[in-house]
Amino acid sequence: MSDLHELYREVILDHSRHPRNRGTLKEANRRAEGFNPLCGDRVTIQLVVDEDEGVVRDVMFDGEGCAISTAAASTLTEAVRGRSVEEVEAVYQRFHGVVTGEEPPENLADEGKLAAFAGVAAFPMRVKCATLAWHALHEALEGGEDVATTE
Ligand code: ZN
Repeated sequence: MSDLHELYREVILDHSRHPRNRGTLKEANRRAEGFNPLCGDRVTIQLVVDEDEGVVRDVMFDGEGCAISTAAASTLTEAVRGRSVEEVEAVYQRFHGVVTGEEPPENLADEGKLAAFAGVAAFPMRVKCATLAWHALHEALEGGEDVATTE
């Protein structure tokens, strides 16, 4: 069993059983909801963006879904808090590229727990579960209030 596979299993189990930063972020000034009709996953990403500095000050998620979608949303909140909007968008692009198999897993090697999701590329049915929260994050950063779907 590869280290990556083991990491994938541990991160998904841990974050799906004990999601971090789940709930309502009252001060949020950006939000977007994602829905994955294939699996029934729903995730709302709520952000406090410092518009002057261009920094994500706080982030929480809410919603219900499968283990992978919950773990992806939970690890997302830990990965983006305190980072610049520009950096967060770059991580979104890398995460999407690796999880869809378009980019090599090494592109997430410096992103801590996010690297665990590289394993999802081997399971095409689960890719939308893993990217749902990230699509919603991207929508929220673009200022949209629309529901993002993974279609
Ligand atoms: Zn799912």
